Amino acid sequence: MTKILIIYTGGTIGMVNDAKTGTLIPFDFEQIKENVPELARLDYQLSVHSFDPILDSSNMDPEIWKALAELIKQEYEHFDGFVILHGSDTMSFTAAALSFMLQNLAKPVVLTGSQLPIGEIRTDAKENLITALEIAATKKNGRAMVPEVCVYFDYQLFRGNRSIKYNSEKFEAFASPNYPILAEAGVNLTFYPNYILPIPEKPFEIHTTFNSNIGVLKMYPGITENAVKAITESDVDAIVLEAFGSGNTTTAPWFIACLQKAVANDKVIIDISQCKGGAVQLGLYETSRELQQMGIVSGYDLTFEAAVTKLMYLLGQGLNTTEIKQLLEVAIAGELTV
Ligand code: ASP
Repeated sequence: MTKILIIYTGGTIGMVNDAKTGTLIPFDFEQIKENVPELARLDYQLSVHSFDPILDSSNMDPEIWKALAELIKQEYEHFDGFVILHGSDTMSFTAAALSFMLQNLAKPVVLTGSQLPIGEIRTDAKENLITALEIAATKKNGRAMVPEVCVYFDYQLFRGNRSIKYNSEKFEAFASPNYPILAEAGVNLTFYPNYILPIPEKPFEIHTTFNSNIGVLKMYPGITENAVKAITESDVDAIVLEAFGSGNTTTAPWFIACLQKAVANDKVIIDISQCKGGAVQLGLYETSRELQQMGIVSGYDLTFEAAVTKLMYLLGQGLNTTEIKQLLEVAIAGELTV
């Protein structure tokens, strides 16, 4: 019998209204079970691991990513797939982080959650949970259909490190602007194998050391030297530069000088776009040529979530700056297209 481990971290899916404050607070897994009697009718053996404490995912951090990766490693041989119940706010960060931590993954790790708590009449939680379980259980020729970390939400399955939360109100809360969906749920569950990662040949392993000493510099017209220096002259090891369009920034001499100084101080800078769709093309315009020349790395079509977590992951691996820069510009878990 197919065995699935449900890992409950929290999120709206399991929240209830606090009578005193009127706010939504995380609650235990028991009430999820009570609200989804269908779970007992599924043809799989389900086990549940609840995190303690259960969280609103805005409190997610790399220590919990590490605990998730270690739990999956510990239970890897005992289960056919894993479903992580997670708040939608930072689900794409966790999915991207896990895609780097869990290497040579041959089993599905499906993250899901919901926009409305499972106890509400119009909830989206039941469909999300039940279909995520089905995806985690699906096999082809005895092997996992989707051997990767993915996000299932509102009838669509996304590669985790390509997904973004783009809407805080619609049931359709997630998107993957730069990579096709891996599957969709209608009357049938339709998979798109051409877009799904292959089963790896090497054995599964985890890499859990993350270094989160990074900064983010988001461009906007009128940005001041003080604001830029607050990042470039801080003691961060790396910077995500959220640039305009295809990776462009102001060419003001003071701005270029700030970046040059940061690069000279061995800070890794990766250029990603503020646009949700499309890729960075350093050197296409004059406004990105100097960035390329000074050794700023192209993030191509990386999401912000994947850029942040990939940097934290690479910085944690004891690599030198040149090695980190090389690995930033290639896909290590299907996260970018060069
Ligand atoms: N604040 C919630 C969380 O991320 C939102 C959600 O689950 O949809 O935990």
